[in-house]
Amino acid sequence: MIIEMRQGATRKNIETVVTKAKKLGLDVQLNQGVEKTVIALLGSNTGEIPTETFEVFPGVEKVVRIMKPYKLASWESKQEKTIVQVGDVKIGGKEIIIMAGPCAVESKEQIIACAKKVRDEGGKILRGGAFKPRTSPFSFQGLKEEGLEFLAAAKEKTGLLIVTEVVAPEDIELIAQRADILQIGSRNMHNYRLLEAAGKSKKPVLLKRGFSSTKEEWLTAADYILREGNPNVILCERGIRTFSNATRFTLDIGIVEVIKKDSHLPIIVDPSHAAGYFEYVPGLAKAAIAGGADGLLIEIHPNPQEALSDGPQQLTFSDFSRLMVELKTIAQAVGRII
Ligand code: PEP
Ligand code: MN
Repeated sequence: MIIEMRQGATRKNIETVVTKAKKLGLDVQLNQGVEKTVIALLGSNTGEIPTETFEVFPGVEKVVRIMKPYKLASWESKQEKTIVQVGDVKIGGKEIIIMAGPCAVESKEQIIACAKKVRDEGGKILRGGAFKPRTSPFSFQGLKEEGLEFLAAAKEKTGLLIVTEVVAPEDIELIAQRADILQIGSRNMHNYRLLEAAGKSKKPVLLKRGFSSTKEEWLTAADYILREGNPNVILCERGIRTFSNATRFTLDIGIVEVIKKDSHLPIIVDPSHAAGYFEYVPGLAKAAIAGGADGLLIEIHPNPQEALSDGPQQLTFSDFSRLMVELKTIAQAVGRII
């Protein structure tokens, strides 16, 4: 961490900063220039110290971090890429993993129909919310426990693995009995007790990016799960809020490349929630594969017009089939397989 003192900062100002740094167990290097003093703070835990610790002191102009605020998610703490193995599916390897299914589990017939479609098209994981985090309390909140039973039935019929959302720490035990991957949604990315509980469960976790979160906040949220001794975290970009209202959210394709540079964790993309409309989903899905994503999370529905949530963005089975054919070609073009 580098602390730049203001021009004219007094010796007492400098001493206060140095004393505080020493109290925190940091080594201090003082660089006294003609006009300004710059203080370098060294120590293995500087990434954990908030910049405000020093910004509050009189005479301090600027505090700049050198260490990244996230640790366990970064290449600094692990040098090989994380491959999350769930059953015999590997996420983060050469194969691009397709996870698809409805926004919400609505009935046994609906989820089994989706599961068969996903399996037949080469998808490996079935998605479907049993516990739904809805913007309005008056909207359909999911079938909850019954939805989990239906997911289990679909798994039994097709052999697909299950990813489903957890919205509260107290539900994790129940959901973990049925799910292979726990999904933490965009609205809960900052729910630190939930992240810790998901970490403790030791189940693989699909961590969606908060729709107004920076890369640092996202990777630091991943650290909460990793710190509990759960290495199986899969990141999922699902669009962020920007000034553009052309699509429901703005898919940040660039983050895929940036995450690969900064983190060993696999990253997949959810084109459905970013698009908000079925016609835009295929284009975003293809862009994500071309852009290096390790997988996709796509919403499909036997009859989107009757869907209880997110109808406009869910693909029909025939649109999904067509998309899967195109995705396979793109995967091959970028040296991957589906
Ligand atoms: C979902 O995948 O069903 C969902 C609610 O997504 P998000 O958390 O990205 O809004
Ligand atoms: Mn949805």
